[in-house]
Amino acid sequence: MKKHNFSAGPSILPQEVLKKASEAVIDFNGLGLSLIEISHRSKDFIAVMDKAQALVKELLELPEGYSVLFVQGGASTEFLMAPYNLLPEGGKAAYVDTGAWSKKAITEAQRFGETVVVASSKDKGYNYIPKGYDVPADADYIHFTSNNTIFGTQLKDFPGGDVLKVVDMSSDIFSRKLDFSQFDVVYAGAQKNMGPSGTTLVIVKDAIFGKSGRNVPAMLDYAVHAKAGSMFNTPPVFPVYVSMLTLEWLKEKGGVEAIEKLNNEKAELLYNEIDNNPAFVGFAAKEDRSNMNVTFTLADESQKEKFDAIAAAAGISGINGHRSVGGYRASIYNAMPIESVQVLVNAMQELNK
Ligand SMILES: *Cc1c(COP(=O)(O)O)cnc(C)c1O
Repeated sequence: MKKHNFSAGPSILPQEVLKKASEAVIDFNGLGLSLIEISHRSKDFIAVMDKAQALVKELLELPEGYSVLFVQGGASTEFLMAPYNLLPEGGKAAYVDTGAWSKKAITEAQRFGETVVVASSKDKGYNYIPKGYDVPADADYIHFTSNNTIFGTQLKDFPGGDVLKVVDMSSDIFSRKLDFSQFDVVYAGAQKNMGPSGTTLVIVKDAIFGKSGRNVPAMLDYAVHAKAGSMFNTPPVFPVYVSMLTLEWLKEKGGVEAIEKLNNEKAELLYNEIDNNPAFVGFAAKEDRSNMNVTFTLADESQKEKFDAIAAAAGISGINGHRSVGGYRASIYNAMPIESVQVLVNAMQELNK
């Protein structure tokens, strides 16, 4: 039986994407060769890279003056690439601490210089998004985590005025319409909403190249990857190809605006059940709820065995909460059909019967 995959990452991809990707592993473009055994400098693969980059620009409506990179090392490498490229010696970086991923980004920035945490929601176990804080005007940049995959909270605004904005968008990129002209660096590991793990999408405003004035190693330099069209070294050909397929799928679905509508319907369906079913309690503050990762717990922990059995029988997979939060987390990324969310809602209702 095909399961309903609520995994937080690596996570669900569209069935048609998985099918096309598996075919390309055997015979790509009718070449009689696998996608993963041809040169990344062949015209067939260059077309994949070009198309993937063009689709990112089109789907996110990026203005002129931004480069789209596909690099390796995961979002975790971006935690250090951002300060390496943006924070000069003696400079100051500002961070908003909204959970475990923000904390890791902060830890890396501290290796490069003064790092100010301008706001944190740690006091309440990261169940909300801090608001109404000041961003020091002399900061070299401010860093946000747009969606907190573990805690199920999501930013609606990115304050900071003229200060450069860096955003970890790993778990909600392509899920909602945003004005990207306000951002200077956006990064996202592919494995939450775009493709397999192994590549990281980085969107970078060309104006920031060289900003830190540091002697940045080539592999960690945004400008080097941009100039080489993400072919400075061998790119992760399979993750880039699958990402391209997912972006084609998204375009066929009507793009970001259409998927946002669907994502909101899915989230509303599930949050409604959490709010109306006395057996469950939502984790995140209502106004800060994520439409990608829905976190909740049982009102009565002794019902865990029963609910887990109901969920398993319904073919529900991957709803266990992160080890640091407990409870449940249903990740309802772009590729998750609303029918699967309904299956989960039915299972939650079944618990009361
Ligand atoms: C998963 C995740 C990361 C870590 O990504 P890796 O690709 O494993 O390094 C960072 N930030 C957020 C918000 C995430 O969800």
